[in-house]
Amino acid sequence: MEQILVTRSSMPSFEEYCEEIKKLWDSHWLTNMGVEHQALQRQLEEKLGCPHVTLYTNGHLALENVIAAMEFPKGGEVITTPFTFASTTHAIVRNGLTPVFCDVREDDYTMNADLIEPLITEKTVAIVPVHVYGNLCDVEAIDAIAKKHGLKVIYDAAHAFAVQYKGVSSACFGDAAMFSFHATKVFNTIEGGAVCCRDDALVDTLNKLKNFGISGPENVVYVGGNAKMNEFQAAMGVCNLRHLDEEIAKRKAVVERYRSHLDGVKGIRLCAPQQDVEPNYAYLPVVFDGFGADRNEVFAALKEQNVTARKYFYPITNSFECYAALPTAGAEKTPVAAYLADRVLTLPLYADLALADVDRICDIILNCGK
Ligand SMILES: *Cc1c(COP(=O)(O)O)cnc(C)c1O
Repeated sequence: MEQILVTRSSMPSFEEYCEEIKKLWDSHWLTNMGVEHQALQRQLEEKLGCPHVTLYTNGHLALENVIAAMEFPKGGEVITTPFTFASTTHAIVRNGLTPVFCDVREDDYTMNADLIEPLITEKTVAIVPVHVYGNLCDVEAIDAIAKKHGLKVIYDAAHAFAVQYKGVSSACFGDAAMFSFHATKVFNTIEGGAVCCRDDALVDTLNKLKNFGISGPENVVYVGGNAKMNEFQAAMGVCNLRHLDEEIAKRKAVVERYRSHLDGVKGIRLCAPQQDVEPNYAYLPVVFDGFGADRNEVFAALKEQNVTARKYFYPITNSFECYAALPTAGAEKTPVAAYLADRVLTLPLYADLALADVDRICDIILNCGK
């Protein structure tokens, strides 16, 4: 049977991309904020309604840089979620900060805002929540807590590109939001990422940090690295952005097809659509509990039929081997996240996934439960 992977990158037509990169052969300008970089930045600022977008070679470095730009004292504590990709926690630790893990909500798997305040200490400097699977965090509660305690909020919005809450883009909450434009995300620039913010001084720092801390031909003001998005990446973004609405509409049809088979099945849980949220259909997480088969059995049955689902997120980051020595580590400290990690599977989802394939995937799953 034909292999179905969990995701498949969206691409413009070969001709459209070639047309877009033709000008690079004329200019021989391949990176360092050239015309494609400038065009994509402008288009994203407009699309997201955000004053500042700064582009990165990937989402991880975007997150590392925006945390660095805030210049928190070393040893500061950052309240975050373990129910995420390795990148979120690593970006905190690689900045010399200590992650303090807050458990997640049972319904949408985002940070449980009710549990944040007890975790705040004198050392707390920031909150780094994740809009996991494209589900929006309780941005109002989180931002209110941060304001009350004088903390920064940096959203890992890697999954939430083009998601809106009450008509406002996910780019616009907190002090900053990071997007990933990795090949597997809803919108890609091959590899890539961005930080979105409203603060003029912050974006100025970010623009320097991603380019060795250089502020002018004869002046270097920060110990920066290199995290610039190149022209080929930006050109892919310019092309993919033209097709974003169509991409999301197709994903929606795929998700609706999955729901038509799986909604209401005993022992299978799908996230309910969030109130006032315009979704992007980035992922389809399914939680198996009290179904005839457990998550690992469903995963294996799909694998047997050449369908790759993903145990995303398992393991959770507070149980990573590299964090074993961290005083805040331990999956048992975040029981909801630990529960989900053992039971969740994200199913194949991409714009061009055939509805007949969705039917077949659901047949395999439902058969496991018999
Ligand atoms: C993809 C992802 C990242 C990292 O982005 P890259 O572009 O792959 O570096 C960070 N956080 C989350 C939640 C992600 O899914």
